Amino acid sequence: MRRILYGALAVSLLAGSAWADGEVNIYSSRHYDTDDALYTDFEEQTGITVNRIEDSADKLIERMRAEGELSSADIVLTVDISRIARADEAGLLQPLASEEIADLVPDNLHAANDNWVGITTRARLIFYDKNTVSEPPQTYQELADPKYEGMICTRSSSNVYMQSLLASIIAHDGEEAGKAWAAGVLNNLAREPEGGDTDQLRALVSGECQIALSNHYYYARAFRQEVSGLTENLDQIGNVFPNQETTGTHINISAIGVAKNAPNADNARTFIQYLFTPSAQKLITDGSDEYPVLAEVPAADAVQAMGDFKRDEINLLEIAAQANRAQEIYNEVGYK
Ligand code: FE
Repeated sequence: MRRILYGALAVSLLAGSAWADGEVNIYSSRHYDTDDALYTDFEEQTGITVNRIEDSADKLIERMRAEGELSSADIVLTVDISRIARADEAGLLQPLASEEIADLVPDNLHAANDNWVGITTRARLIFYDKNTVSEPPQTYQELADPKYEGMICTRSSSNVYMQSLLASIIAHDGEEAGKAWAAGVLNNLAREPEGGDTDQLRALVSGECQIALSNHYYYARAFRQEVSGLTENLDQIGNVFPNQETTGTHINISAIGVAKNAPNADNARTFIQYLFTPSAQKLITDGSDEYPVLAEVPAADAVQAMGDFKRDEINLLEIAAQANRAQEIYNEVGYK
């Protein structure tokens, strides 16, 4: 993404004072190639060069800790509340300090200490094989019902999506209910937990299981582009937005924060501000099939086609607070 410096300077002379040159260093753990379009658009609009360092969230956090005050990180961009909360607990972030963002984003998606904010949301859904399941579970809790014994596929409990879902059940129903749930779902598994979300959907097609958990966008993506083992059989798969009569469907975020020792803190804030413009929201979510945080921006067509739903509006910090306990519970019941 780095441009030749004199190129940027030449354009900056043309654009006059509106052209804020310089750069911004984004430490990102997002795995969506389509974010490229977003960075290019930002560079074209502002003249700020985007340098991207990509790695797993754990490795980026470790790297920032090691770099300390000399860290070149301006922005931390990650998926899932538990990871951005971990970065914040490690003292790696500073306040966003944007009244506009505070106004635009609901409180449950924005840190109480202002150190991070959700830029997009994702929903964790129940999917099922329409050919064999006439009464799919309507709640996460029902996944533990013995009537679904031997029917369910999930990924491993070491995955943050699994941890945050259990953390949300603990936050709503208490620890004991959370443990009973994990043991119940474990008992209903069709096979050992394995693979990513797309693999759970593929397992519905192959007949390995009849009910699966996946984030919504892995399903939506298969309408937009060829996903082998999935796209040609989408008709077979039904989706349920869980807990519509109760707490609402579990929501998570892609989250962003300004790094504590950001060398280009102003540019970091300019970038984050940009993410909350309607066109940027559209760019990110058209590529990733996530939900925009701005209410006026429509989701991608395939996502809209999945239907409207009631969201769980629990404050994500309450979920983050249970993340470690969730992993312990999975370990205690022997959920791989
Ligand atoms: Fe994902």
